[in-house]
Amino acid sequence: MPTTCLIDTHAHLDDSVYKQDLDIVIRQAVNEGVWIITVGNDYETSIQAVKIAEKYPNVYASIGFHPLKIGGTLQAEDKLVDVGRYIELARHPKVVALGETGLDFHDLPQGRKKSNEYQLAERIKDNQRKVFAWFLEMSRELRLPLLLHCRDAHDEMLKLLETWDRATSGFDARGVIHCFSGNWKQARRYFNLDFMISVTGIISHGGYQGELLKKAPLSRLLAESDCPYSTPTPWSIRRNEPAYIKQVAANLASLRKISVIEVEQQLSANAKKVFKRIKV
Ligand SMILES: [Zn+2]
Ligand SMILES: [Zn+2]
Repeated sequence: MPTTCLIDTHAHLDDSVYKQDLDIVIRQAVNEGVWIITVGNDYETSIQAVKIAEKYPNVYASIGFHPLKIGGTLQAEDKLVDVGRYIELARHPKVVALGETGLDFHDLPQGRKKSNEYQLAERIKDNQRKVFAWFLEMSRELRLPLLLHCRDAHDEMLKLLETWDRATSGFDARGVIHCFSGNWKQARRYFNLDFMISVTGIISHGGYQGELLKKAPLSRLLAESDCPYSTPTPWSIRRNEPAYIKQVAANLASLRKISVIEVEQQLSANAKKVFKRIKV
């Protein structure tokens, strides 16, 4: 059994690709000393995340509602994002965070101003903002950190978080921006708000945020698999697994020219600082 425990801060173990062999996938993670936070994308998958966490001692859950699950009409979503149901679920001792939640403006319908596509895109954005605001409110109320998803909307998300930050005090476990795609200036604003950035296996494909990850304080970084996606080399053609985040830590170590053990210990300490309900 390895001595350091690394925490995979973002996995989707409810994905159907693990249906046949989840026991083996989790055993492999245990053998590598990897603990896991499995993440829900809507209410149903959040319940599944909690069930998986109940079954395995080294797995915890995060409950959320992914911005890409949000459409142009909020009537349907209103029922899906029944805040009361999430608050109830968050009482479970193995729920350690809220998310995925956030903003994703990457693939919105495109059209000229006032066209139907344009109006639909604006409605979707508004609904994403509304659901995100509910999660910010829950985080404040429940003192649970946020697992944030953001694409093509970092400046807006930062503005919302800065306003939220002023309204919440004495709460030092802000959360994580997963699979960070922003620039250094935006990263610094997240750090100023006490958020961390998590690094996926894409780091091993070269080029990805390399400069940023060299400059960022190690005390602000976390590792995630985002499995079954973002598999690190040399396993790129396979489905990803939590055990492979050892490779993410190794790549980070070689990028920063420090020892793997130092990186693993710091990442582990960082994760425990954010996810206070994790008892390792
Ligand atoms: Zn995501
Ligand atoms: Zn995800």
